[in-house]
Amino acid sequence: MQIIKRVKDVQDISRWFRCEGKFIGFVPTMGALHEGHLSLVRRSKEENDRTIVSIFVNPTQFGPNEDLQKYPRDIEGDLSKLSSLQVDTVFIPDNEEMYPDGFSTSIDIGGIGKVLCGALRPGHFNAVAAVIAKLLNISMPHRMYLGQKDFQQTVVIKKLVRDLNYDMNIIVSPTVREHDGLAMSSRNVYLSGEERKASLILYKALKLGEEIIMSNGLDDISAVKKEMEALIRSEPLAKIEYVKVVDPYNLEPVQRVIFAAVICIAVKIGNIRLIDNIIIEKS
Ligand code: AMP
Repeated sequence: MQIIKRVKDVQDISRWFRCEGKFIGFVPTMGALHEGHLSLVRRSKEENDRTIVSIFVNPTQFGPNEDLQKYPRDIEGDLSKLSSLQVDTVFIPDNEEMYPDGFSTSIDIGGIGKVLCGALRPGHFNAVAAVIAKLLNISMPHRMYLGQKDFQQTVVIKKLVRDLNYDMNIIVSPTVREHDGLAMSSRNVYLSGEERKASLILYKALKLGEEIIMSNGLDDISAVKKEMEALIRSEPLAKIEYVKVVDPYNLEPVQRVIFAAVICIAVKIGNIRLIDNIIIEKS
């Protein structure tokens, strides 16, 4: 497994893979890898000849009061996991390599970056779009693997790829959960024992919303949201940031679910902000 810090070296390797006629899968991450990340890596390994993984805690996507400094980092552990999956190339740049002096370009992804989490994290999705644009130009993959866990991020990145004509495909893989339903996340390590128990309320609320919509008993979305919010409020450690039912393509709120919708939630458990979602498909 090649561990690479320089942009130019990854571009050289990627160009070489392409010259050999190899298909390249790319998995962008911020490290502290768990089974959710590894499911993307495994899928990339299965579907491509070569897999490149990036580990970069992108400073520009963190707000001033967010957890950039204490974001979990475990490079040794990450490399050992990636090596046992026989990843070909790991790109671990430092901030200087990604944002050298004089860097000033920005991307405005538009309205889809300003709703849901974007409404509470101004500029976050523009920064995500910009770092992904760079990582795509560096790794030059045929396919990029993203997790459904960060649903809004998948919609933003699909738009970036469409708008800027990147010649590659995006594959979105299902959310990997703990045995009790909590979506795996690098930030789960912050949860105390009591908070960990309380965090189950997110998945319970999503399953409740799904059940109501699928049973057709209550097709009025505002009533579905009220029931979900009441359930979340029954957990003393939980504080709702949002509960929304949106169109999976443009993230606009839906009043009724005709074919498909996504229930997206963000809830603070103590000081830890957790997000989760569930896709509802009616046939
Ligand atoms: P992150 O390191 O949090 O930036 O995540 C890197 C990639 O892993 C993103 O595409 C995430 O959506 C994905 N990911 C994170 N957690 C999970 C999970 N529990 N299941 C599936 N994919 C995930």
